Amino acid sequence: MKIRNHRLLQDDGSALPYRASPNKGGALQARWLVMHYTAGRNAESSISWLASPQAKASAHLVIGRDGKITQLVPFNVVAWHAGASSWEGVSGLNHHSIGIELDNVGRLDHIAGQWVSPLKIVVPDDQVRVAKHKNDAPGLPPSGWQTYTAEQIDAAFSVAQALIAHYALRDIIGHDDIAPGRKSDPGPDFPLVSLRARLFGRREDDLPMFTASAALNVRGGPGSEHALLAGSPIPIGTRVQALEQSGLWWKVDVLDEVNGVMDLVGWCHGRFLQAA
Ligand SMILES: [Zn+2]
Repeated sequence: MKIRNHRLLQDDGSALPYRASPNKGGALQARWLVMHYTAGRNAESSISWLASPQAKASAHLVIGRDGKITQLVPFNVVAWHAGASSWEGVSGLNHHSIGIELDNVGRLDHIAGQWVSPLKIVVPDDQVRVAKHKNDAPGLPPSGWQTYTAEQIDAAFSVAQALIAHYALRDIIGHDDIAPGRKSDPGPDFPLVSLRARLFGRREDDLPMFTASAALNVRGGPGSEHALLAGSPIPIGTRVQALEQSGLWWKVDVLDEVNGVMDLVGWCHGRFLQAA
């Protein structure tokens, strides 16, 4: 994929589907890529909705479950996907990010033996991952999540690679990272940490691997005043990849699913980390 005049094109220069959304405004110089799920019925209905004035919402791209990509807003124009949000001291992420919606019905409740979305769509068991959301309070039971298709993840990777290169984006993040009190998308089934590692090469050899030498708390920041994250404490022996250091604290990527939480990233005190 490549980008010309802020439109996404195939490698051979041919156009991808474009459906103009009126829900946009202002010049955009994006710094981040924000991933979402639609929580809709299917890609076509989500695209139609985001292209209609009454939605008052949009995204730059929608990726269907077959991997098909539709653009709705040029990449140099603000789309309305983030709402009230903040990241790294910046608020109102619509003005600083490109938004991608993945067709997915979202968080599922188990009702009378079936997994059911907020729109009352029943999802077959073989398309459901049961997991805690990283932002859910400890003690909450896990939810169901419709799994993403391999075609969708491949398309998300390819388009993210093109966007990061073209606009020098600094990170790929979730709506649930920038609006954690309000939003759960793209949720535990989206492989954000491994995509980020592939896109930015963050698992460098010069950052150590550790194992937990005790049951280890994982916190939202480098200090015991920061809140515990869901999944804490991780069991003794859990392997983690160091991402960065702040004083005695390390930001780590927990490599295995622990306590029902996938993609756990947070801060641990260094005294309980043993070189692996
Ligand atoms: Zn969202």
